[in-house]
Formats: sequence, C-alpha cells, structure tokens
Amino acid sequence: MLIFETKSEIQRHLNAFNSSENKVGFVPTMGALHLGHISLVQESLNRGLYTVCSIFVNPTQFNDKKDLERYPRTIEKDIELLKKSGCNAVFIPSVKEIYPEEDTRKFDFGVLDTVLEGKHRPGHFIGVAKVVSILFKIVKPAYAFFGSKDYQQVLVIKELTRQLQLPITIIACPIIRENDGLAMSSRNALLSVEERKAAAIIPQLLTKVKSWKEEGKLLAEIKQMVEDTLASNAIYRLEYFEICNRSSLSALTEITKNTEALALIACFVGKIRLIDNLEI
Ligand code: AMP
Repeated sequence: MLIFETKSEIQRHLNAFNSSENKVGFVPTMGALHLGHISLVQESLNRGLYTVCSIFVNPTQFNDKKDLERYPRTIEKDIELLKKSGCNAVFIPSVKEIYPEEDTRKFDFGVLDTVLEGKHRPGHFIGVAKVVSILFKIVKPAYAFFGSKDYQQVLVIKELTRQLQLPITIIACPIIRENDGLAMSSRNALLSVEERKAAAIIPQLLTKVKSWKEEGKLLAEIKQMVEDTLASNAIYRLEYFEICNRSSLSALTEITKNTEALALIACFVGKIRLIDNLEI
C-alpha cells in the first residue's frame, strides 16, 4: 500500500489511474479505523476499483473544540488495518496541506442542513462539504463510499456532488455493528466500560421502535417510550429522536404500520455523543 502526505504526490500518482478502464474508488475517513471503515474499502475493492482511503481529522467539521481535541488518533494501527484490507493507497495530509489558507466558501443545503445533525451541530455539514470537495478535487474518484451510519451526511454529499456537477457516484454502505448491536464508531473507544455496556441500549431501542411501528403504535407513543427509557438512567442524555422521511429527512407527524421511514437518534452516553439510525 502506498502512503502519501502531499497533494502533489498523490495527484501525480493517481493521474495514471483516472483512465476509462482503471477507475478510482475513494473512502474518506477521520481515522481511528474499525471494521465499519474497512467495509467501505472492501466494497470499493469488490467493485474492482483502485482504492484510495484518506485519513484526516477535519477541524472545520467540529463545532465542539473539546470533541476535536479528544478525537481518537491511532495512525500506526490504521495503516496496518488498511494494509491488511488490500487498500491500494492512503492519503494522510496535514491540516496545512488541506487548508493552506482559510476556506471561506459558502454552501447551501437547504432544509437538509437545518434538521437533526444540522440543527444540533451548526456548521458541521459546511465543514464536511469543505473537506470532501477538496479531497474529491485531489483524488478525482469515479466512486466514493460513505457509511449509512452517517445517513444525513450521505444525503449532504449527494447534494454537494449534484451542486458541483462532479462526475462521482456516491455509494451508501450498510452500518456495521458490534455483537451487541452498537454501531461501530471511532468514538466508541472513548466510552468507559460502564458506558460501553450502557450504549447498547441505542440499537436495542431502534429495533424496538421498528417493532412498535409494526404493531401499529402511534408516533407520539413511540417517541414517549424512547424518551422515558433513556430518562430512566442519568448516564444517557437524549439529544434527538425522530422518525423521518428517508429521502428528505423531514420529521413525520404520523406513521402507520406500512409507512416506510427512518428512525434516527443522537444520544450522549456519559460525555460521548453517539448517533445511529434504522430503516423502519
Ligand atoms: P469517520 O471516520 O467517522 O468520518 O467515518 C468515515 C466513513 O466511515 C463515513 O462514511 C462513515 O459513515 C463510515 N462509517 C463509520 N462508522 C461506520 C459503521 N459502523 N458502518 C459503516 N460505515 C461507517
């Protein structure tokens, strides 16, 4: 696996691959890699693509400075995992390399940026759009792979690609989970033993929401049960729980057994904010 730290080096290398028969598949990450990330690499490799991963903890997408400071960094381990996965190249730039000067570009994602993560993490998706558009310009992939764990992010990236008219196909990949159902996340490493155990309630609740919906329970009733369950233990602090339209992410006000929807949650377990979602 080749390792690049500068734009010019990786661009020089990738120019040879951007031909019609040899396409690049790209997996942007912030490192502290786990099997969720590796599943994206695998999906790209399975499609016969020359697969490039990036590791860059993007400061512009953190609206909470403490969150940025404590974000896990495990670069040596990440490189080993990527080598084992069969990934072809990794790009590990510095902040200066990506942002030689302040990026003051404006993006407008409409409602998509005002609900759920957009509402609770102001500026987050603008930061994501900044870094992803810069990385896309450097790597020029034919395909880019993103996890459905960050469902709203996938919609934002698709909209970004549409607005910038980029010839890149965005592939959404399934959420990879731990044995107890917890969605894999770099942030899980920051949980104490007690918090890690308690965090399993998040996927369990989403599964319950799916069966409550199938039993015909009212949306208000379902929401109340989620809120009450999490309120019963001080280790949790629910930030949002919504049942939304899968393509617009607008919150539904009622559902029936047959409504196709998406349940999304953001909940603090101790000091660590976790997100998850499930199609219901
Ligand atoms: P991150 O390093 O957290 O920015 O994530 C990089 C990419 O990996 C994003 O597209 C995430 O959605 C994806 N990802 C993170 N966790 C998982 C998971 N558990 N399953 C699938 N994809 C994931």
